[in-house]
Amino acid sequence: MTHSPHLAPDALGPTITIGEILVEIMADFPGNGFLEPIALTGPYPSGAPAIFIDQCARLGGAAGIIASVGDDDFGRINVERLRKDGADVSAISVSPDFPTGSAFVRYRNDGSRDFVFNIAQSAAARIGLDAQARTLIARAGHLHVMGTAFAIPGAFDIIDHAIGVIRPRGGTVSFDPNLRKELLGHALTLQRFQRLVDIADLILPSGEELFVAAGWEGEAAAVQALLARKTPEVVVKRGALGSTYFGSDGRRVDCPAFVVAEVDPTGAGDCFGGAYVTCRRLGMPVEQALLYANAAGARNVTVRGPMEGAGTRAELDAFIAATPRCTP
Ligand code: ATP
Ligand code: MG
Repeated sequence: MTHSPHLAPDALGPTITIGEILVEIMADFPGNGFLEPIALTGPYPSGAPAIFIDQCARLGGAAGIIASVGDDDFGRINVERLRKDGADVSAISVSPDFPTGSAFVRYRNDGSRDFVFNIAQSAAARIGLDAQARTLIARAGHLHVMGTAFAIPGAFDIIDHAIGVIRPRGGTVSFDPNLRKELLGHALTLQRFQRLVDIADLILPSGEELFVAAGWEGEAAAVQALLARKTPEVVVKRGALGSTYFGSDGRRVDCPAFVVAEVDPTGAGDCFGGAYVTCRRLGMPVEQALLYANAAGARNVTVRGPMEGAGTRAELDAFIAATPRCTP
């Protein structure tokens, strides 16, 4: 196994991310929408950046998040979860005026989802570059950008500032381009998206996101286009089919998936990313980082709730030992 240290070591400072914290409230049974009274379970801590950073912290990586919640129980349940799991919550601001973001979710029988969101008018959209955010950024070693942050006004100024501080001190950047494609209709958003693709040390796409990031259709062409743009690592997430690393060193590493019964797919990609970034920053070779990342994604889909299945190192080791894998 070769160890190519493309990401800054954990000792340089925490992995940080920026973006929405939400609660998710889930329908107990599949069906269409919310047009009648139905049984619901929640609130569950959620938000793609929050799930990502929780997985980083649970695995033992230094981790922190810049986000905003309301002065309410939905905010407290999130902050307490992240704190308990070891994340730095000092840069989560508490809005006196806006409630914590929320998402009501109901799966349809075909696996698609209906949502009722309160994000744009919630505390989640009120993040800014305050003193606590600056302090966290000043000691960060790695920035993980979630595409979902592109929907939040103000997030990009923080991302820009963070890149300008973290890069010069030897830190690195990863990018999960999981954003709504329509957002790229905006010229400025597209320009910012392209800039992130250009500077990222690691890109973590799934499905179509690879083509959107690369500007090419077809996996081989898209991966080559990204590597030609000097992206050191591209890691493709393939749901129940596992994942693949493509490196600027010309290496390809395929990691077969774990065989699990999927209960709730939400958060798999975020747990995968959190585990991969953390394992690489802790010095693990690609093969081992992919194994933990696959395990983190797979374990999370076996549990109801967006981040309820994020695993510690010991839990992931137990999961890996006990769970069969697809044949490559
Ligand atoms: P999300 O829905 O959170 O945006 P994503 O599309 O970014 O997810 P996925 O490819 O769905 O990412 O999941 C990430 C990883 O989690 C996969 O590469 C795989 O390793 C693991 N995983 C996800 N779903 C399953 C599954 N049903 N069975 C086994 N492993 C899974
Ligand atoms: Mg995704």
